Amino acid sequence: MITMKDIVRESHPSLTRSAAVVEVPLSKDDKQLLEDMMQFLKNSQDEEIAEKYELRAGVGIAAPQLGIEKQIIAIHFEDIDGKLYSMGLVNPKIISHSVEQSYLSSGEGCLSVDRPVEGYVPRHARITIKATDINDQPVKLRLKGYPAIVFQHEIDHINGIMFFDRINTEDPFNIPENSSPIQ
Ligand code: ZN
Repeated sequence: MITMKDIVRESHPSLTRSAAVVEVPLSKDDKQLLEDMMQFLKNSQDEEIAEKYELRAGVGIAAPQLGIEKQIIAIHFEDIDGKLYSMGLVNPKIISHSVEQSYLSSGEGCLSVDRPVEGYVPRHARITIKATDINDQPVKLRLKGYPAIVFQHEIDHINGIMFFDRINTEDPFNIPENSSPIQ
């Protein structure tokens, strides 16, 4: 099982490079990795298991965070309206996005970053993603609000971008242009 010791931290080269496209149909190993990543997220949100294994709660994880430079991400969370987003994807790509931006009013965090980083992270308010799921099926997702932010954070990881790379260094709490906050 994946624990915090498997997760590489900021400044690790895997977090700064573009990850490789994954071959479809998925290999056994890639499928297993996706399942392990999903299980990690579920474990990290289970109070008892998280305490036992000292896991930090996470809603998303990308393979480069495990030092594996492949375009693989997993997400697991409930949106404020109670809708469950739980899936593993390979080769996710943002194929279109809104001009309007958004940002999390509490800022963002990352399993690979052990310190609080303050500031607003500008994100697209709405995105459309194409990817392949764990059953080798093509998926197309239209996302807005919190889910759109989570997916952009994880897709950034496969492009070697950290959330703090997007924060305005001179003025971290500068409100992104044409944006609305997400609580
Ligand atoms: Zn992250």
